[in-house]
Amino acid sequence: MTTSTATAVADLKNLVAGEWVSVGSGEWLDDVDPATGDVVARVPLSAAADIDAAVRAARAALPGWRATSPIVRARALMALRDTLVAHRAEIAELVTIDMGKTLADANAEVGRGIESVEAAIAVPHLLKGENLEGVARGLDVEMVRQPVGVVAAITPFNFPAMIPLWFLPYAIGCGNTFILKPSEQDPRPSQRMAELIAGVEEIPAGVVNLVHGSRGAVEALLDHPGVDAVSFVGSAATARIIASRSAQSGKRVQALGGAKNSMVIMPDADPKLTSSGVMGSSFGAAGQRCLAGSVAILVGTEEEQDRSLRLLVEAADGLRVGPGIDSDTDVCPLVSVAARERVEGEIEAALAEGAELARDGRGDGGAGGAELGPTILDGLSEDSRALREELFGPVLAVKRVPDLAAAIEWSNAGRYGNSAIIFTESGGAAREFRYSIEAGMVGVNVGVAAPISWFPFSGWKDSIDGDLHANGNDAIEFYTRKKVVTSRWA
Ligand code: NAD
Repeated sequence: MTTSTATAVADLKNLVAGEWVSVGSGEWLDDVDPATGDVVARVPLSAAADIDAAVRAARAALPGWRATSPIVRARALMALRDTLVAHRAEIAELVTIDMGKTLADANAEVGRGIESVEAAIAVPHLLKGENLEGVARGLDVEMVRQPVGVVAAITPFNFPAMIPLWFLPYAIGCGNTFILKPSEQDPRPSQRMAELIAGVEEIPAGVVNLVHGSRGAVEALLDHPGVDAVSFVGSAATARIIASRSAQSGKRVQALGGAKNSMVIMPDADPKLTSSGVMGSSFGAAGQRCLAGSVAILVGTEEEQDRSLRLLVEAADGLRVGPGIDSDTDVCPLVSVAARERVEGEIEAALAEGAELARDGRGDGGAGGAELGPTILDGLSEDSRALREELFGPVLAVKRVPDLAAAIEWSNAGRYGNSAIIFTESGGAAREFRYSIEAGMVGVNVGVAAPISWFPFSGWKDSIDGDLHANGNDAIEFYTRKKVVTSRWA
């Protein structure tokens, strides 16, 4: 990303206390459409003073919002849901232009975000506490949940509409006020959703604020004493920084990180379910999903492993690479030319270490220079980055093992634990996999095991720093503080 001098594109602003305000730093980044290379917006980099203004606005709105009935807050979420549904196609198009993914994928993403709002509408139910009467003579105990305070969410580029909506509805539904710092690479879906929120009269000014920027803006949020809790999604390296810096300043934190997801293909796997599941998982959104299957563990004899590999290569040959806006595209561009160059560098490094190309997806990059076709690497050395580290591109690594036990052992030896998939027709194998695999989200004959919004979303091990996942009851736990009251009356 480069600093721009263009003026014909929109200059984004922060939303603070219900007003759109210009950022004072004078530094900008370009938001680029990866399918064309066109600059579509200029993104201001908030400095500490800009962040301070947003935190003050969120703190000022907190007492009134906290005192608002949970039922009224739930109605505000209903209004938010309705406006998002009405503008779903428009937000999806911004996702496609800014991030690159296909329109169908973007539409599904916005739908998943709306689903989180729907799940959070249950807050009056979910916020109910506990009580125990008569623990001693005349002595009663009750537990109530109160909001944590001001919550900041820092989100990644790959789901620019859905991931902000993992946090926002639950946080404000629980009575907190909220500051969103979206990815600087594709912030316009967040900008549009903030415009829509500003128009929802049931959500008062200052309850939801938006700040643009990159590392400096995040550090100002993490160091600000007025921020009480931080929800983060991004790479594992950034998650570790966010978690430790938040902890140093005494904030509650959940930091969801990167992934290297295994897909175990048993010899008895259904070919149709397997090829469509793996194609969607490994090459959908050009492999830029935290749930992307990036290692195919082929189980069986050499002949069975070769048969599984042939199935995947033939299916990948049938995928069409192109702009996300074209309805017949299967594999969209990566988020930027820099991302495509980085992933191609990883492929070259693997080849230099002796890997073989079962399928080579490298080409001219398309009109915007960010396209890369499905690439499958076999014969990787055990310490290769392509086998163990997240490449975040349309690259599938192949690992060969003789049996299920070896597949599980190999997968569990990795440092990540976001998701793991098995393709099999054997209930016993599926049951053993489900029981033994170390991952937070497990799929059986399902390529992308994304939990619906009423369940917690996250992984294990280096795929998360912090204890509580996003969505579901974990969100209520994260966004509330428990208070236990012991009473005796004369
Ligand atoms: P990223 O870590 O580069 O950026 C995420 C956010 O952190 C952005 O808002 C960015 O501005 C900020 N940031 C980046 N570097 C920072 C630093 N040094 N200090 C402070 N803030 C910083 O991630 P990305 O490239 O935008 O997103 C892709 C990553 O997100 C992948 O690793 C993917 O697996 C992960 N991800 C995980 C999940 C999950 O549920 N675990 C979901 C989606 C994406």
